[in-house]
Amino acid sequence: MKRERVTEGPIAETKRRVKQPRIGFHAPISGGLHNALLRSSELDCQTVQIFSRNPRGWKAKPLGDEEVELFKRVRRQTKISPVAIHANYLINLAAADDAMLQMSRASFREELERAILLRADYLVVHPGSARGAGETEGIHACAESLKRAADGLELGSLRILLENTAGQGECIGHRFEHLREIMKACPALPLGVCFDTAHAFTAGYDIRTADGLEATIQTLDREVGTKRVRAIHFNDSKAEYYSRVDRHWHIGHGYIGRDALRRVACHPKLSHSAFILETPYDKPEDNKPNIEALRSFIAGPNP
Ligand SMILES: [Zn+2]
Ligand SMILES: [Zn+2]
Repeated sequence: MKRERVTEGPIAETKRRVKQPRIGFHAPISGGLHNALLRSSELDCQTVQIFSRNPRGWKAKPLGDEEVELFKRVRRQTKISPVAIHANYLINLAAADDAMLQMSRASFREELERAILLRADYLVVHPGSARGAGETEGIHACAESLKRAADGLELGSLRILLENTAGQGECIGHRFEHLREIMKACPALPLGVCFDTAHAFTAGYDIRTADGLEATIQTLDREVGTKRVRAIHFNDSKAEYYSRVDRHWHIGHGYIGRDALRRVACHPKLSHSAFILETPYDKPEDNKPNIEALRSFIAGPNP
């Protein structure tokens, strides 16, 4: 007997919902890390990205047992998952300067330890900049840094996500090939990719048109495999195409535009990823229009 296909009604609705990507935003941690989970939950988000510390300082206060327990308890209550931590901005895993490289490796190891303690799913990091030394050297240094920083650590289910960059200031990671080379050099590490739409766009991947997006996704798939793309940084861009400038902007108000971002949100090769907004805001609730735009893209019909 032929099974009837359910295309309408609550069952079909549930089935459609199961397939939908989880959405969230980079939430502030003022007043405690757990607050990021609460703010996300209040805004009906299912996933989150946080810094686990001040992102602009080398020194981090060690995580206390109570802080960790509170974070885990609130996470169980809010069911926010996956949890991504973005590594601090001082880290440069590809640094040509030795003192900088050593500090960066130590700081990234500390980020890994904090992510393990907090049972985060992902630690997002930019591959770095080998100013003066060239891209090949930078890729090599980054891979070596990742291996040394993780050496001897029990990562559990934590995955390190390499983020594609805008290519600003001689940063590596602006071509998907760079990410592929780093991953290839670290076969024993659980590496994945975080795809930032604004970075890709200003790095020269023209995702404004349907064809341009398709070509970009094909390249991404060929170089790193879209299955390894676990997070999407869902941003419009205040900087122009191929400017290699990193300026995130509100959804639909930048150079990428609403229709193009809708196609990204609905792309079947990306639906397994967590969609995380990194659009600027003063108060988390100011981010509502961006969250609602992303939610409407995902809930709406495929473009
Ligand atoms: Zn980033
Ligand atoms: Zn990003």
